[in-house]
Amino acid sequence: MSSEEWTARYEMAKLGASLFERGFSVGTAGNISVRLSDGILMSPTNARLCDLDPDRISKLGMDGEHVSGDRPTKEVFLHQAFYDTRPEAGAVVHLHSTWATALSCLEEIDPNDCIPPLTPYVVMRVGTVKLVPYIRPGDPQSGELIRELGGRYAAVLLANHGPVVSGRSLFSAVCAAEELEETARLLMALDGRKVRYLTGHQVADLKQTFGTI
Ligand code: ZN
Repeated sequence: MSSEEWTARYEMAKLGASLFERGFSVGTAGNISVRLSDGILMSPTNARLCDLDPDRISKLGMDGEHVSGDRPTKEVFLHQAFYDTRPEAGAVVHLHSTWATALSCLEEIDPNDCIPPLTPYVVMRVGTVKLVPYIRPGDPQSGELIRELGGRYAAVLLANHGPVVSGRSLFSAVCAAEELEETARLLMALDGRKVRYLTGHQVADLKQTFGTI
């Protein structure tokens, strides 16, 4: 096994446990993946993110076939759609985290911009978040709907389900997923109050200074 793969397996177990222990994932909800030079590592189906055994993490080939380890999550399509449309994506994190999922159930959110620019960090780490219509978990159509976005979004919110966030590395994808969750929590905390969002000029300045996601 390459050192790249060995490192990725242990990082998945470590960061998966960290997400679980801090309440970003409960039960067997949520799944994480890492792209390697010769395939994709994926958390197995029905696995808690705190219990990932580096030796049993699922490995898929470049064309999606199961190569080794336990059977992959049934939400594998979400991950593959990001890798297929965002060449820069090195990892994908999908959670059913409480506040982002609560936001995904609201009728009044803007489907083209689910997470308005409340703080600089959500702009820098997550970017614009698109709402993807509800699809039954495990239905490959969810992957098709993400593919149709053409890789324009680093993160999406699945309606009545939860966020899917990509990043250059697993660490950056996890940090972005946490930022999205905390921003959703702030939005819910501010619900009903008059909010001062960042202006278009301030958002453009952040993107110019730190780059787009
Ligand atoms: Zn899910």
